[in-house]
Amino acid sequence: MPNPSVVVNQAVQTPSVAEAAAILAAAGRLRVAKQVIRLAGQPGAVTVAIAQAEQEYTGRQGQLYLVGIGPGSLSQITPAAKRAIVQADAVIGYDLYIDQIRPLCPPGQIVEPWPITQERQRAERAIALAEWGLTVAVVSSGDCGIYGMAGLVLEQLQATGWDGETPAVEVYPGISALQAAAARVGAPLMHDFCAISLSDLLTPWHVILTRLEAAARADFVVALYNPKSKTRIHQIETAQQILRQHRPADTPVAVVKSAYRPEETVYITTLADLLKVPIDMLTVVLVGNHSTRQHGVWMITPRGYALAAPKE
Ligand code: SAH
Repeated sequence: MPNPSVVVNQAVQTPSVAEAAAILAAAGRLRVAKQVIRLAGQPGAVTVAIAQAEQEYTGRQGQLYLVGIGPGSLSQITPAAKRAIVQADAVIGYDLYIDQIRPLCPPGQIVEPWPITQERQRAERAIALAEWGLTVAVVSSGDCGIYGMAGLVLEQLQATGWDGETPAVEVYPGISALQAAAARVGAPLMHDFCAISLSDLLTPWHVILTRLEAAARADFVVALYNPKSKTRIHQIETAQQILRQHRPADTPVAVVKSAYRPEETVYITTLADLLKVPIDMLTVVLVGNHSTRQHGVWMITPRGYALAAPKE
């Protein structure tokens, strides 16, 4: 403490009261050293010290909204997710997604677009703003809990000893890429399905291979996320080979790029011809099961399955 007192220490067993309390409460620097104030003719005295907080005092409990904004068009975002964005003091997300929802952002809102790579820093920033007392919306495309920011934010909160209540967290679901793509081609996900991300940045490749193999064997309709980037080009080839070992060459496959965005493209092809269709990181690939059929521009997986089940 800047001005410890022997007298005070003897009286209350701590050398500083006013200064220590001010510094602790403000979590900042002492600006006015302690002053003892007495009123003439009155008994007793009061000691005052002033510390200045690093951040403006909000007096509010922070909130974190983890928001899925759907595949790309504002018409595909839920009303609840829209409301969460409008009500937030601050909105944080990948810059492309921020561009999509910017028309919703009221004047005066803090809007922070981030580059695609810095997901963990984005989560840390959102938590810091919420701990300050702001209501913060963290936006992800599609559903925020499917390869999105919800997991990162919750993981990060857990790692920093979060009590589960402060800041308060609310998750707003969104239409994921697999649902958006499915809607564009009919009803390919009518029966049991699974999603597999082909990105081996966060998952070891051997784990992805095991899942592809298991999904192929179990005859799940498979949605492949993150199928191909400029540098990751072999993963989709391997995925096709594994699926091909368990399914016929003419199994219908939908390749949907930028669903519900102006530059959307939709292809229906077959497992054998999958690699002839352009595929990139804005694409999701839906591979049918044994009973999936193509009908013109439509892809249909029957609800009834027993008759078309693969032979042992
Ligand atoms: N949280 C998102 C997924 C993020 S992972 C969701 O629930 O949809 C990023 C991958 O999602 C992309 O590589 C692509 O495979 C897929 N994706 C996201 N938006 C898409 C869209 N509009 N059209 C097609 N695929 C999309």
